[in-house]
Amino acid sequence: AEMFGQLTTGFETAWNKLRGVDVLTKENMVEPMRDIRRALLEADVSLPVVRRFVQSVTDRAIGTDVIRGVKPDQQLVKIVRDELVQLMGGEVSDLVFAKSGPTVILLAGLQGVGKTTVCAKLAFYLKKLGKSCMLVAGDVYRPAAIDQLKILGEQVGVPVYSEGTDVKPSQIARNGVEEAKKKKIDVIVVDTAGRLQIDKAMMDELKEVKKAVNPTEVLLVVDAMTGQEAAALVTTFNIEIGITGAILTKLDGDSRGGAALSVKEVSGKPIKLVGRGEKMDDLELFYPDRMAGRILG
Ligand code: GDP
Repeated sequence: AEMFGQLTTGFETAWNKLRGVDVLTKENMVEPMRDIRRALLEADVSLPVVRRFVQSVTDRAIGTDVIRGVKPDQQLVKIVRDELVQLMGGEVSDLVFAKSGPTVILLAGLQGVGKTTVCAKLAFYLKKLGKSCMLVAGDVYRPAAIDQLKILGEQVGVPVYSEGTDVKPSQIARNGVEEAKKKKIDVIVVDTAGRLQIDKAMMDELKEVKKAVNPTEVLLVVDAMTGQEAAALVTTFNIEIGITGAILTKLDGDSRGGAALSVKEVSGKPIKLVGRGEKMDDLELFYPDRMAGRILG
């Protein structure tokens, strides 16, 4: 299935109602805007985001001078495209690297969202940028998670620092960074424990790890399939521990688009990277304009 296919189809319903119309007016915009609103809600975009979006598209569409040679339905497509790009943060948000010394990237996220996979994908991505990388196994509650990280690390040819399950994650993270410094490694990716739900112990641990390694990036890994819930999670983690952005996983699945369209607007934090599969090479930067283009078909 095409990514966000349902959303694409919903939008098409809106354009189709403007066929043969000479100019966009308040009256002939009512039905199409209702379709757009419905399409966004069905894609699980957060309600306040939908409201603001519909409002600003309507304002712009009605206020737009007739552009010679551009049909009203195409004018609306263009306005929606622009507003979608804005909604997703406008520009691409590159990863930030430390000005001097190694860059530490701290990864957080609930269990099952694809955090371990992202660690390895990120290492692979960084290698392609010409940066050396080390993974630090900070999920001490599940021995299987450490093993999985080691296997994936080997797959992408990146060392994995671990001290088993008996040492505190903040200590492991600190030691891992020291080790990486000695080896002159460019980027250290610290994996942390996820839980099924947000709880105080997880947040406290993340705060400790963050304090111990002073990361340049703190990225929350969220599952695109969770829709607007992903945006709520980013908001909570940002308030609790302070994050620099999000990584959206499982965009290859049949997610409806709610997460991609809500995260920035709801949380104020950008989506920096997206994962679209189980292979190591399918993590890429998030380009709002490309995403808008895909949605509009
Ligand atoms: P963690 O519990 O957050 O560390 O999650 P894992 O990295 O173990 O991933 C959980 C499951 O999701 C595994 O079966 C992964 O193969 C799968 N997975 C991770 N990222 C993606 C993705 O982008 N797309 C798809 N389809 N599956 C993914």
